[in-house]
Amino acid sequence: MVIEKDKVSAAESLRNTRTYGKFRCHNPSCMGRLVPTAGSSQVKCPVCGLEFRVAWIRPDFPRIRGPVWDVNRKIAQKAVAEKLGLKEES
Ligand SMILES: [Zn+2]
Repeated sequence: MVIEKDKVSAAESLRNTRTYGKFRCHNPSCMGRLVPTAGSSQVKCPVCGLEFRVAWIRPDFPRIRGPVWDVNRKIAQKAVAEKLGLKEES
């Protein structure tokens, strides 16, 4: 009976680790968890704020198509501006 019990728990843990619809942030220095909400065309990284375009292969199966350049460029420019600002102050 112990073996059967183990089988069930193994199957359950497998089910739990199946992560359709979850991605790692494409920002190599971030690697935050992206979880697109169903039907949304974009997902924002909760860690670094970069945004990515989402394509829905199936209603429950999203895929990251690529970064949203406008948003990401603004974030990059802001970061650069902040760096320059700090340099000027010091
Ligand atoms: Zn990120």
